Amino acid sequence: MTLRPLLAAALLALGACAYPYTPRALPPVTAPAAPAGVAGAGTASTITRAPVTILVSIDGFRPDYLDRGVTPRLSALAAEGVSAAMRPSFPSKTFPNHWTLVTGLVPDRHGLVANRMEDAARPGETFTMASDDPFWWNTAKPLWVTAERAGIPTATMFWPGANVAWGGTRDAARPREISGGTRPRDWQQYNEAVSDRQRVDSVIDWLRRPAETRPRFVTLYFDEVDTAGHEYGPADRRTLSAVSAVDASVGRLVDGLAALGQGANLVIVSDHGMAPIAPERRIAIDSIVPATDARVIESGPYATLVPLPGRDLAVARALLRPHPHMTCWRRQALPPRFRYGRNPRVPAFLCLAEDGPAGGWILARSATDEAGHRGAHGYDNDSPDMRAVFIAHGPAFAAGRRLPSFDNTDVAPLLRDLLGLPAGRGLDGDDRPFRAVMRR
Ligand code: AMP
Ligand code: ZN
Ligand code: ZN
Repeated sequence: MTLRPLLAAALLALGACAYPYTPRALPPVTAPAAPAGVAGAGTASTITRAPVTILVSIDGFRPDYLDRGVTPRLSALAAEGVSAAMRPSFPSKTFPNHWTLVTGLVPDRHGLVANRMEDAARPGETFTMASDDPFWWNTAKPLWVTAERAGIPTATMFWPGANVAWGGTRDAARPREISGGTRPRDWQQYNEAVSDRQRVDSVIDWLRRPAETRPRFVTLYFDEVDTAGHEYGPADRRTLSAVSAVDASVGRLVDGLAALGQGANLVIVSDHGMAPIAPERRIAIDSIVPATDARVIESGPYATLVPLPGRDLAVARALLRPHPHMTCWRRQALPPRFRYGRNPRVPAFLCLAEDGPAGGWILARSATDEAGHRGAHGYDNDSPDMRAVFIAHGPAFAAGRRLPSFDNTDVAPLLRDLLGLPAGRGLDGDDRPFRAVMRR
């Protein structure tokens, strides 16, 4: 008898993924000393106010950035709280995963199936990250709407979809006007130019309010680790300096909370990780499917294509055969573990590039398409490079607990518990991973 099945079972029991390799170890760099009492928030001696729930997203933050010696505040929160390497949902992109984190549904079910997408009900329109028409967002209710309707004041210092009048409708005759809908009580139009310090200070200012108008659920979003990861790759010093800057901003948040005597349950996550890419690992899609046969909707770690009228079979013939470093499917035939492809917003064909020990391959629209990037995400959500960070800290959480990996659909159920909301019905995740680490 071989040991292999036993080993596989043991790995599964540990919550380990079935992906065939472990990620490259990133070398440590100089470690700044951690300040004393570093985590701060929630220490019994200083807390005079009921805890607020703060959901922090650090876009593109790999869990192993915590081992690089540049994150004294985040590492202390992880050490004093609960931490894990979390599995994102497919596709491992920003908008689909941020919407999963606040709805508890996989992208195929919540409707934000991509950062860029089309819908037959809106011919000629394309959803981009700038789209705030509720049409694109209305399939699944985000947590701040549920909270607001339950009388819990919410405030969002950026989050994809937080600027959308959720449940509202756009008037076809006056496309700039939206009628109805619910937004967080406080929110800001997304603007990358707002510094991390300003973002943190806005949150602290909201919490200075008297108890009646003070938010009890807050989101906070940082983009710079993702931006640096794309530009320089996950192992580069310049990416680590972005990591270090965000760590300092999290420290500023923790210190600001402590100064207010404000208890907080912090849930710090990322939407996905970041894989190293290189110019020599590129496949030009137009060398496989000519532009006269299909439109390419998205390109990168995965590509989606819509055949032009009458060209479906030609596209199928070109794509649905073995290719080095990429696999293609019709959307209905994607492997079930992706939980993706039933939503009609997913284009007819999807090709996924390989992410292996040497890094990821890129599906470029053409050989000359922008080749400057050194990091990417969007790969198989089970790839170790795509793992997302999870840190929970505060009075609701036990100290010093490391959890096996879980799916990011479980985060919304956890947040519902923290807010005292009833468990959601029909969600794709639940709070099981956290039951043993919650303080009652
Ligand atoms: P991705 O293409 O998946 O790497 O998306 C990351 C980018 O999303 C970042 O560069 C952010 O600036 C951008 N982003 C994040 N939140 C928002 C938002 N609410 N509205 C528009 N863009 C956003
Ligand atoms: Zn992202
Ligand atoms: Zn990104």
